[in-house]
Amino acid sequence: MPAPSDAHRIQIRETAPRGGPALFLDRDGTLIGERWEPDYLADPEGIVLVPGTAETLIRFRDAGYALIVVTNQARIGRGPSGWEEYDALSRRLDALLADAGAVLDGDVACGHAPELGQSCDWRKPEPGMILAAANTLDLDLGRSIFVGDKLSDMEAAAKAGVGTGAHVLTGHGQRERPLVTSWEGPKPRRLLLLDSIADLSP
Ligand SMILES: [Mg+2]
Ligand SMILES: [Zn+2]
Repeated sequence: MPAPSDAHRIQIRETAPRGGPALFLDRDGTLIGERWEPDYLADPEGIVLVPGTAETLIRFRDAGYALIVVTNQARIGRGPSGWEEYDALSRRLDALLADAGAVLDGDVACGHAPELGQSCDWRKPEPGMILAAANTLDLDLGRSIFVGDKLSDMEAAAKAGVGTGAHVLTGHGQRERPLVTSWEGPKPRRLLLLDSIADLSP
């Protein structure tokens, strides 16, 4: 099955800081969970921020980091709802963050579904989304951080040359932690094992 030609998105705000480090943010299971079912983020009204998310984002933005969401969204490749559902959830996330005084600088998303044979070099654990954001904002990847709940987040960070990987126990983190601690592959220079994004500081 041919890959959809519109499966990739990169949206960066005009106000995003350029030339410095980024805090790359996995979305599902790292920034947000869903009230009753963490694996199924279909209802924008059902999402909740992981406690402490906004405070962490504000700390990093004040320290000069660009805040960039980097997310695999295979549901887009699987179903007809596509980017409309993604955009609705993004608006809800932006509103929840705005209530707490935080603003994201952009997001990068891959909508390819690997089980449909839609492989690509953007979908994590590949580094393409990180590299696209770095190219757009002339980011300093060595000083950047990637926070995520899966090993594939850490692998993508390492492949892109991101200096620090931060693994959290929210979302799929409990299940993935043993994979991260026994990981043999090339790692980021620094690997942090945290409880949640609330524990991350510049
Ligand atoms: Mg995740
Ligand atoms: Zn893709």
